Parts: sequence; C-alpha cells; structure tokens
Amino acid sequence: MSLFDTYVMVDWSGGKDAGPTPRKDAIWACIAGQAPIYLRNRQVAEDWLAALIDREVAAGRRLCAGFDFAFGYPSGFARALTGSDDPLALWDWFEARVTDNPEGSNRCELAGEINAQFPGIGPFWGNPFPNREIVDLPRKGLDRTCVSFAEKRVVEQQAKGSFACWQLSGAGAVGSQVITGLPVLARLRRRAKTAVWPFEELSAPVAFVEIWPSLIAPAIDRAQLEGEIKDAAQVRVMAEVMARLDAEGRLENILADGRAEQGEGWIFGVGHETALTEAAIPARLANDCFALPPGIDWTPVDTALASLNSALAPVTRVEQTPTKNASGRILARDVTARRSHPPAPNSAIDGYGFAFDGFSPRMPLVDGRAAAGAAYPAHVPTGYAIRILTGAVLPRGVDTVVMQEECTASETDVQINAPVKPAQNTRKAGEDLSAGDLALRAGHVMRPQDVGLATALGVASVSAQTRLRVGVLSTGDELVAPSESNAAPDQTYDANRPMLLGLACRWGYEAVDLGHVGDDRAALRDRLQDAGGRCDVVLTSGGASGGDEDHVSALLREEGVLTHWRVAIKPGRPLALAMFGGIPVFGLPGNPVAAFVCSLIFARPALSRLAGGEWLTPQGFMLPCAFKKSKKQGRREYLRARIGADGRVEAFTSEGSGRISGLSWADGLVELGDAAQTLAPGDAVRYLPFSGFGL
Ligand code: AMP
Ligand code: MG
Repeated sequence: MSLFDTYVMVDWSGGKDAGPTPRKDAIWACIAGQAPIYLRNRQVAEDWLAALIDREVAAGRRLCAGFDFAFGYPSGFARALTGSDDPLALWDWFEARVTDNPEGSNRCELAGEINAQFPGIGPFWGNPFPNREIVDLPRKGLDRTCVSFAEKRVVEQQAKGSFACWQLSGAGAVGSQVITGLPVLARLRRRAKTAVWPFEELSAPVAFVEIWPSLIAPAIDRAQLEGEIKDAAQVRVMAEVMARLDAEGRLENILADGRAEQGEGWIFGVGHETALTEAAIPARLANDCFALPPGIDWTPVDTALASLNSALAPVTRVEQTPTKNASGRILARDVTARRSHPPAPNSAIDGYGFAFDGFSPRMPLVDGRAAAGAAYPAHVPTGYAIRILTGAVLPRGVDTVVMQEECTASETDVQINAPVKPAQNTRKAGEDLSAGDLALRAGHVMRPQDVGLATALGVASVSAQTRLRVGVLSTGDELVAPSESNAAPDQTYDANRPMLLGLACRWGYEAVDLGHVGDDRAALRDRLQDAGGRCDVVLTSGGASGGDEDHVSALLREEGVLTHWRVAIKPGRPLALAMFGGIPVFGLPGNPVAAFVCSLIFARPALSRLAGGEWLTPQGFMLPCAFKKSKKQGRREYLRARIGADGRVEAFTSEGSGRISGLSWADGLVELGDAAQTLAPGDAVRYLPFSGFGL
C-alpha cells in the first residue's frame, strides 16, 4: 500500500515580496497531478499550506509535504543555541525569534546575533544589503574565523553542489530559506499530527520531508527547455517523482535511508539519484523499436503481434487519481482494502434482532431501534428483541435477525412465527473483504463496478496511469468532411477519423483529433510534428502502402524510423509503423474495413501497452459456422460475422473490403488461421465478439 495519498512540494524563498509577479524565484508549490501554484510570499504560502493540511487531514488523506531547505544545521548548532540536540527545539527557537512580513524579515540581524555568541567571525555570512552593515554578519565567507561547527552537514558533503546553510545570500544560497522556513514549519507541524523526516517515525498522517530538486536536474533542464519556469518545474516534477515512487512501492525504501543522527536532517533521495531521475523521466521508446526480424517477406500476424509486444513500453506517467474519476483508468498499483467490508456485523434485512442463545418465540422489545447509520448505543439484554433495519450494525447482544414478514409485532413485543437458525440474516464483519486484502490488481482497467468496490473499501484515490493521448489523422487528397451539400463523385467522406477517434474513446484513452491532411508531404510533416506535443501516439490512416501517393510511408521512411510491415492478414496488409519525433506512429490502411480490423487486432493491444496496461488478447470461442468458405495457405483472414438465430456464426455476404456496411452489420469477427482450409456449414470456427475488443 502506498504511504501517502497526496504529495505537495514547495520551493521556498528567503527573499522579500517585491516587483512584478509571478517572480521566478518566489515561492512555488505543486500538488502531484495538478499544476504548480505561485505563492507570492511566505505569509500567503503558510496560509495555503495550513489550509491544505487541514483539508487533507479532515478528508482522512495522508499528506507528504516536501520543502527545499535544510531541516537542521551541522551537528552541535542546535545544542549550542537551545541546550538540546533536538532539531525541532531549534525550529521553535527560531520561531520565537524570527519576525517576518512581506516587507522583509530580521533573518540577517538574527544571524548576526547568533554569530556574536560564538568565538571568531561567523558561522553565518552573506549580508545581502550593499548599503547596510549588519552587526556581526560578514559579507564574505572567507572573512570568517569561527570554527565551532562543520561547514556542511553530513548529507551535504554527499550531495554534490549543495550549499551550506551558513550562507545567506548569493546565487544558490539557502541560508535565508532555512531561517525563514523553519518558523513556518514549526507552526504548521502543530496543526496536525506531523512526522518530521527523518527525525520522527512516519506514522502520522502528515510528513515533512526535506527535498533538493537538483537531484533530478536532467528532468528540470528538459522542462525548462520546454519553457517552464525552473522553480515551477522543480516542484511539479518532484511531486510527480514522489507520487510515482510511492505508487511503485519504492518510496518507503528511499525514506528508510534518511539518517537522523546529530539532528542534522537528511535530503530525500541522496544515494538514490538514479531512481529519482528514472521516475522523473518516463521511459522513451527506442527509435528502432519496430524493427522486424530480417528476411521475412510476409510477416505472420502472430509474429507481428509478438514484435509489437516486445517493442512497446508504457509512455504514460503514474498519478494519484480520485477513485470517483478512475473509471477507464489503468491501475498502476494494487488496490487493497483500507477497511473491512462490511466493517462491522450488520443486518441483511428489515426485521427483529436478538441473541440466539436465550431466544423465545415471544420476546419483549427494547425501546428504540437499530438502523443503517444510526447504531443502537446500548446492549440488548438476553431474552429481548430489537427492531432492526437493513444495514444496521448489530447491537451488542444481537447475533440473529428474523425478517419482519415472519413476525407479528406490537409496540412492546414481538412474536416470531417461523423457525430460527443461529446468525441468520446477518452479515459478518469482513465477510466480503478484510482490511488489507487485495481488491484489484495493478494493470487492471477500472470499470464502474471497480470504482464502487474501491470506494466501499474506503479507498479515496488510486494510483493510476495518466490517460494515453491518442492522436488520429486522416490522409488523402480525396477526403472531405460530410456536409449538407453532396461531395463530388471523386471525393470520399473521411469515415476513418471519427471511427478511430471513437475506438480510442471506447478504450479509455484521450482521443485527439489531428484532422485531415492532403497528399502533401510538407503538410503531413507539420501535422505530425505538432502532434508530438499533444499526443503520446498517433494513428494515421491512408497512404501507408508504397505507391506514388503514399506520403505517410514516404515521410516516415525518410524522416522517421519506419518499418514497413507487410503483414499476412486480410483485410489489411500494409502497416507502417514508425517512430517520428519520439512518438510511435501507426500507419493504418486507408480502406475503412482494413483500418478497423487492423485497429482491433494490432492497435488495441499496442495502445494498451503504451498506456501502461497489459497486452490484450481478444476473447474468442468456437461456434459452428453457417457458411461455406475455402481459403489459401499463408495468411490470416478476418470475416465480419455475427451469431444467427440458430446459434451458428454467419459471415457478411461480401468479403470486399470496401463494404463498410458489413462492420455495422457484424457483432464480431471470425478468425481463420494462417493455414489453408475448406469450411462447410456446421464446421467449428473461432468467433471473436466485438465485446471482446472492448466495443
Ligand atoms: P490509401 O491507403 O490511401 O491508398 O487508401 C485506400 C482506400 O481507402 C482509398 O479508396 C481511399 O480513398 C480510402 N480511404 C483512405 N482514407 C480514408 C478515410 N479516412 N475514410 C474513408 N476512406 C478512406
Ligand atoms: Mg490515399
């Protein structure tokens, strides 16, 4: 089970609130799965965090809050100031002495006063005010002579490039953040039961964790290249990393490595940089992932499917999703029961309850009743009965219920007119699932009934893959959208695009309409490049063969990494699979019947893998056929089919792949294997209902 439900990361700032907003170095915070939030100053940030903590705790959610400043100083400092090695005593010490408001804080003066307590100059340094001397606070680090404390904490000695908390100003300095941040944390931790990592056991609903986003620098660099403000990217990616590591069950181990010795504190993830960076940058598909074994001319369907299965990997991220919105989402982690279902023994019916031992056919009724949501607070004495309603928790003293239809009741007593068995009409606590039981497995696609189950078990949010964004693009000069006026005879209505968008939706993905482009390579290139920012995968239709006007395969061959798959399948055949600009492109045949069949057979399992789900194989079963057919060796065939009134499988009258009406006539496909075969009515064929393809 995950440690937390909500993750918030905060990029603190020690400066003052001035100038235009949003300032790039002010405070940024981000809740995993949401957009970063700009918090103008420390007061606004503290209020926002306080409200967040209150809200999460009230909702029973566990909150992990990360802050990018040191939770402690080098060993000995806390004791020197407070008389105790407890770093949290130092938090309170600062809280009592730091004054802070949007116009500025006394952090420098306080640092000077602290310096005055120790022999020599320092340890604090970095007076940021060019025209103002601060008593006992040197401008330069080299001016210091104080040797009372180490320059850096143990963890900072390991974290390359980290700054010492003695330095109050200059690029990258963190000293001011610590002095202005600790008082805020001291107040926030009193709002709720809070565990300050790594000093305290992580059993409280709220945890404060020291973070340092430089550990995931490559991911931040990438986000900055894409135009995101650095501090915003830091908190966003760090929140995603925490959520993902927790969802994958790896957070606990990393937190276990935090060292609390000397009250110095620890930076989350030091020593686990690779795991953090991996979690920050989801796997990318290799450019040559669609390569086929050499030497194969017509690729059998099963070989093509196996190649796809091994080539593809999830390109989605993991995020915590409210259970109520999780329908259609792929679980990234097992869901376990947070409490038993039912949590307490209750009544399965409306009737009268009592203790089986000591029951008699006529019993006096106690005052009051037990109803769902209104438990009876007292004990029901032996020999007494109580009015009880469906779903009511069994009162103490009650283990058996008789249904009201089998009783005659008055105001004061009840007569039982039927035989009674012990514990009848009651439900045992946990008889469905007990707390901690596995309810749903990782990889499962959430259906409405699963949302119901998780909710009944008290699971308010689940760890799920983000929705795969599937772009759909049509190609061909002849294509037009249907309109009131009829198109010219040489124009074709673009049927594939709405059909493929519909498939993507039905499969639970975010369908992105990329429109239509003519047979024009430059336009196609532009459209695919644009798709790269908006989609995780693109389905194109048309232009996938090797002909003069087959610009999809031409472009992908020249500028992407294309594998032209000649799959031994009817209808279908040319499939152009390529990586273009880092995302996979599935070039489907233009013919609508072929595009549809190839989507079900190839795109559906492939998209599922990309979405972080399982490889999908359609459910099929053997049924007698109602048709005659002979087919040649060496290619798999799919016939549009449905089950007739006599229970036999009928095939659509024409195998012509231009007959799109057959797709609507059919309820499924008949799959005929690669070998040659001759079928007569009554022979068994493999029927794949569309429902087995999620339709
Ligand atoms: P192509 O693969 O581009 O040679 O197209 C094969 C056949 O499918 C041609 O008859 C096209 O007009 C038709 N076609 C291609 N794209 C679509 C589409 N989006 N909707 C309907 N028919 C299409
Ligand atoms: Mg075409």
